[in-house]
Amino acid sequence: MRYVSTRGAAPVLPFEEAMLTGLARDGGLYVPESWPGFSQADLEAFASLSYVETAARVLRPFMDEAFPDSELIPLLEAAYGRFDSKLVAPLVQIGPNDWLMELFRGPTLAFKDVAMQLIGQLFDAALARRNARMAIVGATSGDTGAAAIEAFRGRENVDVFILYPHGRVSEFQRRQMTTPVEANVHALAVEGDFDDCQALLKAMFNDFEFRDGLNLGAVNSINWMRVLAQSVYYVRALAALGARPGREVFFSVPTGNFGDIFAGWAIKRMGLPVGRLVVAANANDILDRTLKTGIYRRAAATLPTSSPSMDIQISSNFERLVFELLDRDGAATARLMRDLSEKGEFALPPKALERLRAEFDSASADEAETQAVIARIRKEAGFLVDPHSAVGISAATRARGDSRLPMVALATAHPAKFPEAVEAATGERPAPPPHLADLHARPERVTRLPNDLAAVQAHIRGKARA
Ligand SMILES: *Cc1c(COP(=O)(O)O)cnc(C)c1O
Repeated sequence: MRYVSTRGAAPVLPFEEAMLTGLARDGGLYVPESWPGFSQADLEAFASLSYVETAARVLRPFMDEAFPDSELIPLLEAAYGRFDSKLVAPLVQIGPNDWLMELFRGPTLAFKDVAMQLIGQLFDAALARRNARMAIVGATSGDTGAAAIEAFRGRENVDVFILYPHGRVSEFQRRQMTTPVEANVHALAVEGDFDDCQALLKAMFNDFEFRDGLNLGAVNSINWMRVLAQSVYYVRALAALGARPGREVFFSVPTGNFGDIFAGWAIKRMGLPVGRLVVAANANDILDRTLKTGIYRRAAATLPTSSPSMDIQISSNFERLVFELLDRDGAATARLMRDLSEKGEFALPPKALERLRAEFDSASADEAETQAVIARIRKEAGFLVDPHSAVGISAATRARGDSRLPMVALATAHPAKFPEAVEAATGERPAPPPHLADLHARPERVTRLPNDLAAVQAHIRGKARA
């Protein structure tokens, strides 16, 4: 499989290059040149496979010879061996035809581990083969940073720099980034919000001298491998729930950067029986508004909420869907993205909007609703959910559609990552698992930086070993 940019003006790359490159040089995002297909018979065969075996089958058509099964399967086993459930993404029933998919069983307690643990293995293998070193630079609204650091800490071929918005991530999230002792880990607190961090990241990737000099790599959800790795658990859910034409499975996805829900869309695009996809948003509801109005408009400010990993105004991965909605016209996609950066908004053409509405629903939950859902699930199902998962459950309920079809809400974080919000809603404080029980007592190491490209670049130049 070769990869093309959503803006149509960057080199076409094979899998491994696209993975290591991250952001395309024309500012676009890499997507597969064509979509492979899976059949109903394939899906039925997946039902008796393990998570690792399913992943190997789903990833195969995207990877070429870069990672033959003999190499891929041990890397998958190493990545998913660190999860505390053999199923990796177990389903829990919360209603007659309603399910939660627990995606937080990895080492940092958020769904980001599902992709990042695998990416850590794949990057390490690819860089070792090339005898190369890389500076991974990421921007995080909380969970990506912790997951990236966990995947790369101590690795010989990689330095990892994570930009996060100072004061805008939870204490637990911050400590996950600032307490690792390995010298190749660099937590950078930027005086700005997540969109500022993401803009700095993009600017660093668009500075080719800087990018090439340090061999920058990106593991934000702009990296195609992130999306691809996440598509595997949608397939597992379909197989487990016996999905077939006429019994499609709906998914409600707590959405920020649109990476996770795009992974679900990709599975649908490849022919598997995914029903409607519900974009679940918190008060930062750009996508909910886009579905309602057809105008993708940046709000004046990002609102801090109890689900900070979704406190995002620009959903980078939405560009991948826009490219598809525009019949893969890179020049047209680039024009809309230029409108967005110049005017703060773009309008989807009517046909594109119609297609968007044919496959997606949306709902946004405010803080009171999020709290009410956490309390309701505690009462009805007997366990605690985190605020992000609650936003997903809320949207699943409100955009339910046909109740004879299964609805899966994605539970994207462990409740112990957001103990204050969970305690406020239920009076119970969720305890972290044993390996993180002393996190609050570990010494922190962090560099605070202004929201200034030159300052951030100078810092990274000084620390990278590349
Ligand atoms: C990152 C994250 C999200 C949003 O996922 P996107 O792929 O950015 O849409 C939702 N919930 C949690 C807990 C996250 O960490």
